[in-house]
Amino acid sequence: MRRFGPTIFAEMSALAQRTGAVNLGQGFPDTDGPASLLADAAEAIRTGRNQYPPGVGAPELLEAVAEHQHRFHGLELDPATQVLVTAGATEGIAAAVLALAEPGDEVVVLEPTYDSYAAVIALAGAVQRSVALLPAADGTGRFALDLDGLRAAFTPRTRLVLLNTPHNPTGTVLTPAELASVAALAVEHDAVVVTDEVYEHLVFDEARHVPLATLPGMAERTLSVSSAGKTFSVTGWKVGWVSGPAHLVAAVRTVKQFLTYVNAAPFQPAVARALALGDDFYRDLAADLQRRRDLLREGLLAAGFDVGTPRGTYFVVADPRPLGHEDGTAFCRALPELAGVVGVPVAAFCADGGPAAGATGPLVRFTFCKSDAVLLEACERLQALRRG
Ligand code: PMP
Ligand code: GLN
Repeated sequence: MRRFGPTIFAEMSALAQRTGAVNLGQGFPDTDGPASLLADAAEAIRTGRNQYPPGVGAPELLEAVAEHQHRFHGLELDPATQVLVTAGATEGIAAAVLALAEPGDEVVVLEPTYDSYAAVIALAGAVQRSVALLPAADGTGRFALDLDGLRAAFTPRTRLVLLNTPHNPTGTVLTPAELASVAALAVEHDAVVVTDEVYEHLVFDEARHVPLATLPGMAERTLSVSSAGKTFSVTGWKVGWVSGPAHLVAAVRTVKQFLTYVNAAPFQPAVARALALGDDFYRDLAADLQRRRDLLREGLLAAGFDVGTPRGTYFVVADPRPLGHEDGTAFCRALPELAGVVGVPVAAFCADGGPAAGATGPLVRFTFCKSDAVLLEACERLQALRRG
């Protein structure tokens, strides 16, 4: 693991703290989740939900996850055997990869790649095969799946596909056609797909999140992973879950029990109740974030960046080349001094020489999961780039 230093998120948050810059780097909201959720967790602490919960998770959360998967995605799951609670999506993904990939097996991932994937593939002794999401030629700024690259990434050693949609950092929501290509190759190569859907409810405009497990023939080979962090603005609670066919969930459970065994006892019943919040909660969440996306986009455009329109997540990718900056990493290190703002270089999500490294090298990811006042302050500060 020597090649893995401190994560880019930790580095950039520390930089923001040191310099007093507005932190639009690490993705965490600056307001907490729904009041009922917070009250339910406090109540759970007061009423004795403080010891080890069952290894698979609190029964009401297992039920609630199954119910959520049915309500939003039409998936039928047995909460007793097809759902597992994990310490955030991070542990769910880690346990799935460690359970299913043997040393030398190949794991197909999208690049830019969320940072924990490469680390956990290395922990498993498996081999990463990256497929690029690249800015589409249509001028919309959408990052599209490289379908030729996808086909080329599958080999006889492919064991797993680790998919992320809505995608961090590009904001891409994979289309049904892109998902169908992944599904066809997974079936052809008899691979299991682990889908990271932590941004499933942060989807904008006409985009729709389609879980891969809902495609024909995919439920039997897909593990869907999500968590409470983004949906309920409680990233520090680390309540996640994995769902899918019983034999695959059992394999993940076997590994998970020796990673953390259990976690977040009082938060689990609170999240269970929050998952059952009405449709208006989920609608307002997406609408409010979409409004803040537009606010930040306008500020970035006014400051002179080229900016795409993310259809999901709470991240927007900006290109500083019109402002004369060609290297996103150097630009991010200088940005606190240039404008009093912190972002994250997209290059940090790409391997040296990886298929998306060239195209994304100059780009910077900014988060809009912050209050209006913070976003407006950041936008105001960024105007210094144009003046400077
Ligand atoms: N996957 C992606 C794509 C993420 O962006 C994040 C966190 N922001 C995670 C997983 C981790 O989720 P959790 O905090 O629930 O472990
Ligand atoms: N997922 C968050 C992001 O992309 C950060 C999580 C972390 O710091 N590990 O910003």
